[in-house]
Amino acid sequence: MSKIADKLKRVRDNINAACSRASRDPAEIKLVVVTKSVEIDEIQEVIRLGCRDLGENRVQQLKKVAAQVDEFMAKGSADPNPSGPVNWHMIGHLQRNKVKQVLPIISMVHSVDTLRLAEEINTESATLNICPMALLQVNTSMEPQKFGVPVGAAIHLAEQIATLPNLKLAGLMTMAPLTRDSQVIRDCFVRARELFIEMRGEGIVGREFNDLSMGMSSDYEIAVEEGATILRIGSAIFSR
Ligand SMILES: *Cc1c(COP(=O)(O)O)cnc(C)c1O
Repeated sequence: MSKIADKLKRVRDNINAACSRASRDPAEIKLVVVTKSVEIDEIQEVIRLGCRDLGENRVQQLKKVAAQVDEFMAKGSADPNPSGPVNWHMIGHLQRNKVKQVLPIISMVHSVDTLRLAEEINTESATLNICPMALLQVNTSMEPQKFGVPVGAAIHLAEQIATLPNLKLAGLMTMAPLTRDSQVIRDCFVRARELFIEMRGEGIVGREFNDLSMGMSSDYEIAVEEGATILRIGSAIFSR
């Protein structure tokens, strides 16, 4: 097995183990493979290994890599594992003036954290006649420099975003702080899950509000235990 295949298998094994600890079905969890700063041949390899959800956090890089992947897919090079087209996820902070460039590429934006950004996505999506999925990024770590709407303002913002017709509000995204203290990380994920459940329960959001995007290479097992439905993992798969 190649190094990447080996690492990917280890990640999937760990997800399965976390699922059994939490009595969850691994089929409810989507792995977004984060390809930032990864060479194209390594990206081709994860595609051949069956990964169809890829994530980037910068617009320029997303455009470049998505074009390379398109070319690869058009050649039919992903065979013999034809599990459908690649879905791109924009996972990093998105400036309003870049929205127009990412919309034709992505299927989901994980990082919506202001009404102005949501409105821009809505307007540009109407022009393109599309309705992309968007997650509300919530700042559960209370760190002032982090992106994301504060937990206390999230419901109000979700209510406003939910009225926009050309954007599907599909759930929440959060990032835990960089720390070795797993309780601090868990607390963030629990806060996100509680907010997610509260929003669904109050009927503020629609039936498409199903996803909880949380967990990266260093904390995805905790995220699975706390209810994540989307994991965003890069270095655990690619780093040497
Ligand atoms: C880079 C990045 C990830 C993946 O991080 P790894 O530690 O490499 O798994 C996940 N989410 C966001 C928003 C990122 O920018």
